[in-house]
Amino acid sequence: MSERGTCIVTGGSRGIGAAVARDAARNGWAVCVNYVGNARAAEAVVREIESAGGTACAVQADTADPAAVTRLFDAAREKLGPVSALVNNAGITGPVSRLDQAEAETIRRVIDVNVNGALYCAREAVRRMSPRYGGGGGVIVNISSGAATLGSPNDYVWYAASKGAVDSLTVGLAKEVAGEGIRVNGVAPGLTVTDIHAESSGDAGRVEKLAPSVPLGRAGTPEEVANAVLWLMSDAASYVTGTTIRVSGGR
Ligand code: NAP
Repeated sequence: MSERGTCIVTGGSRGIGAAVARDAARNGWAVCVNYVGNARAAEAVVREIESAGGTACAVQADTADPAAVTRLFDAAREKLGPVSALVNNAGITGPVSRLDQAEAETIRRVIDVNVNGALYCAREAVRRMSPRYGGGGGVIVNISSGAATLGSPNDYVWYAASKGAVDSLTVGLAKEVAGEGIRVNGVAPGLTVTDIHAESSGDAGRVEKLAPSVPLGRAGTPEEVANAVLWLMSDAASYVTGTTIRVSGGR
């Protein structure tokens, strides 16, 4: 069992989640790397953590499935010890289009993963962390997006709306469990270099296209987002709850 406890990173196999998983392990957390389909990527993150002397395991679970989420938390506790941190990171955009041209199935799945999935995971985390259930407190960090306030017109208004819901989850749950030793915060990345643009949005050139519109003049890296997540998880943020930090290069 690690000194810091066990941290579950949903969607920890790639992109921002993988950077958070590596960084959390370096900071002494035992890390449960969740993924939905890419076992090879998840195992690679686990191997990287273990070869650097850390502790990790990979667990498959679709976060949009509440029974799978319960199994994820059970597996993390069995393999690594009591869960005291959740990074609610798994997320998708669906293919870029105007809203009037989007498929209902795209909208449904994005809301299911980004909103319902985040709610199921946060619910399960409180059931493990709150003293009401015998837990010893903890931290939750929800990965939002700059899209929540930009609205993403002509790209994915449904995705922006899903991240607005994530921000409401952060504010409400933070107040609900503040007296139970659980801090709940968010990080809203801006344009970040990951697979999401080519694989989920179907817009492989998105980073190059939009980078000049970022006030700092470039896209961010997953590690730059992970830095904010790890700070929120740390004792340095002991008086911080119910807020979302924007890591967007000013966009
Ligand atoms: P990514 O590179 O596409 O990686 C997505 C991760 O989520 C993968 O590990 C994937 O697992 C996992 N995942 C997807 N659906 C899942 C599900 N139903 N259950 C469990 N895991 C699931 O994405 P990313 O860019 O790192 O994005 C991570 C988070 O940051 C998302 O919430 C995203 O909305 C947010 N964000 C990203 C950007 C950006 O520009 N990249 C900007 C703002 C916000 P598999 O490997 O198994 O497929």
